Amino acid sequence: MYGCLHCDYTSPNVHSIRPHLNRHRDLKQRQSVGGADDTLSRMVRKLAEAEEIADDRDRWKARAVAAEKQLRTLRRALGNIS
Ligand SMILES: [Zn+2]
Repeated sequence: MYGCLHCDYTSPNVHSIRPHLNRHRDLKQRQSVGGADDTLSRMVRKLAEAEEIADDRDRWKARAVAAEKQLRTLRRALGNIS
């Protein structure tokens, strides 16, 4: 089961999570006026990239391991902020 960081959206299918996360990201970029938000949106962007890499773990095992580590770190950091 995959869950959204920004709302209560969950899905058993990672491929429906990614477009959902992109909606939050687009919204954030449109609303963002820079400043403190920059760090958070940069982290959200990195998180999405890490999730894409993790998706391809069969082909990119080494990168996926690193991405998952980054993902955990980012999830923890994002959890502390919100
Ligand atoms: Zn959401």
